[in-house]
Amino acid sequence: MLYVSTRGKTDLVSAAHAITRGLANDGGLFVPQNIPQLRMADIKAMGNKPYTERAIDVLLQFLTDFSEDELRECVTAAYSADKFGENPVPLVQVNDNTGVLELWHGPTSAFKDMALQLLPHLLTRSMKKTGEVNKVVILVATSGDTGKAALEGFADVEGTQIIVFYPCEGVSDIQKRQMITQQGKNVKVFGIEGNFDDAQRGVKEIFGNTDLSSELCKKGFSFSSANSINWGRLVPQIVYYFSAYVDAIKAGKIQAGDSINFVVPTGNFGDILAGYYAKLMGLPVERLLCASNSNNVLTDFINTGTYDKRREFFKTISPSMDILVSSNLERLLYNVTDCDAVEVADYMKRLNTEGFYQVDSDVLKRIQREFFGAWVDELETKEAIGRIYSDYKYLMDTHTAVAWRALEKYRFLTSDDTYTVVLSTASPYKFSDSVLEALDDSQNVSKDPFANLQELNAKTGVEIPPRMLALEDLPVLHEEIIPANEMELAVVKNLL
Ligand SMILES: *Cc1c(COP(=O)(O)O)cnc(C)c1O
Repeated sequence: MLYVSTRGKTDLVSAAHAITRGLANDGGLFVPQNIPQLRMADIKAMGNKPYTERAIDVLLQFLTDFSEDELRECVTAAYSADKFGENPVPLVQVNDNTGVLELWHGPTSAFKDMALQLLPHLLTRSMKKTGEVNKVVILVATSGDTGKAALEGFADVEGTQIIVFYPCEGVSDIQKRQMITQQGKNVKVFGIEGNFDDAQRGVKEIFGNTDLSSELCKKGFSFSSANSINWGRLVPQIVYYFSAYVDAIKAGKIQAGDSINFVVPTGNFGDILAGYYAKLMGLPVERLLCASNSNNVLTDFINTGTYDKRREFFKTISPSMDILVSSNLERLLYNVTDCDAVEVADYMKRLNTEGFYQVDSDVLKRIQREFFGAWVDELETKEAIGRIYSDYKYLMDTHTAVAWRALEKYRFLTSDDTYTVVLSTASPYKFSDSVLEALDDSQNVSKDPFANLQELNAKTGVEIPPRMLALEDLPVLHEEIIPANEMELAVVKNLL
């Protein structure tokens, strides 16, 4: 299996190359040259296997320069029981035709662990395969979840170093605490005086500074990325769509061969894109429902064919979906234009220069056949958390609630009552202040995040993730706050 750039100006490369590089030289994203197929018999057989073996079945199809044994080493280390518990991705049946796929049983209680626990293993092996001798320096700008998940994944991984920048006023208390207590010989965390965009701009400038990278290269360092533009972060996410499907068969909800829907709380379009790839591989998927919060640029795109980022940015209670430029959409566009790299490059150029682009009606029709878009406001999000808890005693976080509510809108509009899997992307404890407010309006939510954990636990009896509880007593190791324009300096000082 070889990989091409969505913008068409690079050679075919191996999976190892795509993972080591992250981004293609022409600015495009790496995509597989063709989509491997799984037969229903193969899919059905996954039902009798543990998650790690299901993962190997899927990863082997895409990462053909890895042996089965190598992949087994990677997934066994990534999804071990001490990190994810006995079942890494349980499918919880909440009502007759709805299951919730809990993707947050990893070390940081967000779904990003599913990919970021595996990526370091894939990356270090990819580096060996491509002859990379430098130490790989992962630079991350984070609005919260990615930073911690990447730190946890890369901590003490041989041959790597990780530096995370977070906006010092822009992350939740728990998220901040998770990052500044991070242990590991190769980790560094900086707070930025500024917002997430400042942090991201700073990281992009460092990546784009060729003088700096060639100087660091001579000293034995290469930069790489751990965000979802990297194929190595996307491919692990395809696995759990298959896993949910076979678990729905086992639960007696569907028969092998039946089509189901998935609804995905979406930001950068990585998670839902993985579901689209699963469908292209042969998984029977009826519709992929793309759920957004008030930052509803994707809803508008799916409904009208115009992607327009020139709009107000809202800070919401589902912050991991507060995003106006969904990078992974580029990979979808590549597929629905029949791999027309020129057209894709043109869309991306327009987005950069004019702030919007419009796809033609054929492309739009193809997108609408596969995807349904809906968005959910703050009040609806909280209402859904409270109502689902009171109806089914199922407690969900704000992101999952956006997805659940979007599904209700879809069912109301279409009368489609197909069995549907809601992807749950974070533990309710990660956003316990909003969840507490949702359960009881008059609740006095504390300023102390740990008091909120206890309060939510007292109210619901749902277990607090032990690692989150332990944060309160962990020493703070990363206190440095720096101006946004000193990020490069901080990187240089830290490496040399
Ligand atoms: C990152 C994230 C999302 C969005 O996922 P994308 O792959 O960026 O679409 C949704 N929910 C949570 C909790 C997240 O951390």
